[in-house]
Amino acid sequence: MSEGFKELKKQLLSGRKNGYDRLSPEALAGMEAYCADYKAYLDAGKTERLCAGETVRLAEAAGYRPYVRGMALRAGDRVYVCNRGKAVMLAHIGRRGLEEGVQIAAAHIDAPRLDLKPNPLYEESEMAFFKTHYYGGIRKYQWVTIPLELRGVIARKDGTVVPVSIGADPEDPRLVITDLLPHLGMEQNKKPLGEAVPAETLNLLLGSRPLGDEEDSGRVKLAVMRLLHEKYGITEDDFISAELEAVPAVNACDIGLDRSLIGAYGHDDRVCAYAALRALLDLAETPEKTAVCVLADKEEIGSDGVTGMQSAAFDTFMEDLCASQGAALRVCLEQSFCLSADVTAAYDPDYGEVYEKRNAAYVNYGVGLCKYTGARGKSGASDADAETVAYVRRILDDAGVGWQMAELGKVDAGGGGTVAAYMANRNIATLDAGVPVLSMHAPFEVVAKLDCYEMYRGMKAVYQAV
Ligand code: MN
Ligand code: MN
Repeated sequence: MSEGFKELKKQLLSGRKNGYDRLSPEALAGMEAYCADYKAYLDAGKTERLCAGETVRLAEAAGYRPYVRGMALRAGDRVYVCNRGKAVMLAHIGRRGLEEGVQIAAAHIDAPRLDLKPNPLYEESEMAFFKTHYYGGIRKYQWVTIPLELRGVIARKDGTVVPVSIGADPEDPRLVITDLLPHLGMEQNKKPLGEAVPAETLNLLLGSRPLGDEEDSGRVKLAVMRLLHEKYGITEDDFISAELEAVPAVNACDIGLDRSLIGAYGHDDRVCAYAALRALLDLAETPEKTAVCVLADKEEIGSDGVTGMQSAAFDTFMEDLCASQGAALRVCLEQSFCLSADVTAAYDPDYGEVYEKRNAAYVNYGVGLCKYTGARGKSGASDADAETVAYVRRILDDAGVGWQMAELGKVDAGGGGTVAAYMANRNIATLDAGVPVLSMHAPFEVVAKLDCYEMYRGMKAVYQAV
């Protein structure tokens, strides 16, 4: 190869690099420390409520105070609002006025799971079970025969709220959903993957030991209800006003002989939520523009509801911030930028046919930017304008953050959405960006440590940008 050819190639063609060929040894040490903290955040926040609680704990430890309406806010002030215990909004007030806009990172802290039905408890063939209703896009066959834990709350009629945790403590029993044995699976094997495990068979096994005498009925169910009454003081009707979620009873761990990856439940989207949060908490100086971090609930079911990104809770928070400076909310939003921080699909060589290799996100290549998501010809996507994409390219390049441009799979292979459209609809320039994930939405997802760290560094750069 002639020197001239090499030179011209370097000058004209894009040359993305594996992050390990780019990062310094010091950066790699920083990555390990960051990922250790991230794993602890995952283990502490397996549901949106637990994750919101852990977020508030970390924010307060970093000096954030709960925002009280009417509070005077000055540059350098750091406040947060927790929306109904399930979503968190934080702000670090910048030097410039809010009429000049804010720098937003919006991620979500809900994840696919199995919720209990309102009337969950029943007995069948002298075994007790909970009925579930899945939340978000799951592949149902992945949720059988794995250890599960039950987390959430029961709100009693008297207004008291009881936290529930079964299976999280190492001494606790676990729950499980059974599956058919291969010996009797002949007919099931012929069914399409999506139909082989019907949703109504996703029932959690709770026990088998009866109470009372031989001639009594419903003895196992009553025995389970008695245990729950002893532990939580509840009766069967209290399930009606409860939010109980079955999630994998597995903690985050390193994956691979080289420990370069992390396996865990809920990377989507706590990997971006943690990056957005931690980058905000770690801002050493008051940013030029106000930095806002939104950790929303309900993304996996469409972002509706009071704690979802479509809720007016966000507008109310922003309006309160604006009111403290006499700024107009609409002017502020018009001048703002939002990074919709959500995961993207990592190229998986075992399923290469669903990706378009020239526009796929690769493990260890950094933050995956997505100009648009959606399905069937970008339907449902906010489709960021070229100028907004250029703006983010500049921010990340100036900060030396590794990034790649990606689409979520081949055109018409499927598709997906994020909170981006709901931010863009508010007249906020918005771009999707996130960590590439292997086995997204599975009970145990995989990400690369390097990409987690680049996401964090990218979020810091976005908060500091103007
Ligand atoms: Mn997501
Ligand atoms: Mn998702």
